Amino acid sequence: MINISSIKAHMFCPMSLYIQTFNDSEKSNEYQLAIEIKKLKIDIQDLIQKNMRKVKKEMSIAEIESELSENIDSFIKSNTNAIISMDLPIDPEQINEIIDSTYFNIKITALRIQQAMTIYKKDAFAIIDMFFPNCMYSYLLKDPQLELIGVCDKIEIVDGKYYPVTIKSTNPPLKGVWDQDAIELVSYAILLEDEFDTEVFVGFVDYEKINERRPVVMDVNLRKGLFEVIREIKEIIENKKLPNVKINPKKCNKCQYENYCIK
Ligand code: SF4
Repeated sequence: MINISSIKAHMFCPMSLYIQTFNDSEKSNEYQLAIEIKKLKIDIQDLIQKNMRKVKKEMSIAEIESELSENIDSFIKSNTNAIISMDLPIDPEQINEIIDSTYFNIKITALRIQQAMTIYKKDAFAIIDMFFPNCMYSYLLKDPQLELIGVCDKIEIVDGKYYPVTIKSTNPPLKGVWDQDAIELVSYAILLEDEFDTEVFVGFVDYEKINERRPVVMDVNLRKGLFEVIREIKEIIENKKLPNVKINPKKCNKCQYENYCIK
């Protein structure tokens, strides 16, 4: 089975997938940490959604923000402490990033809620579906025939249609989405179609640093691109084929395997 996390690594650099697969003893810890951070961010969203039920249309922006922020600090603190107690390598910068992005998200959400409450003349409770549609989080999808498995961050269901959503803490491109994010999303879309016997026409990347959602159309070219990537991954993982990559200083400087590669 090919895990979608392998697709992400391959899209960043095929060599990084090779190193991860055959030489990286630290891999499982970092992978586990990434999963725990993602889970925490999803739980924070849930808490904001719960807090939103108490927001009234006569509240000021400051009051809405304060309502949405209730228990957020203590929640982040207890959960990051739990991650530390699991001996996972989280550093203070990552914790600050979680706090900053949460409060940025709360500010933007407060503004949007206030505007929507004014337009619809309703309390937040009555318009909550606009902000938090019916959805499933961290949903495991797999297709034995395709030999593909992965956990989709979020699946939103609107009017019986399914929309895969991937949540990214990376910097977004100036427009559109990164190729690797589009390929990840189409892999969820294909698994989703099989799991729910449905068709998926569009998915979304949520770039949380700028609190922006960007759509990706699941067209034929993107689907073909995924199968090409899966073929290349099989060559690396199953046949241990060393990929032929060019050093790209811009990318390599940010890569955790830079020293390994130079050696
Ligand atoms: S250092 Fe560069 S070539 Fe090596 S794995 Fe990282 S991105 Fe790829």
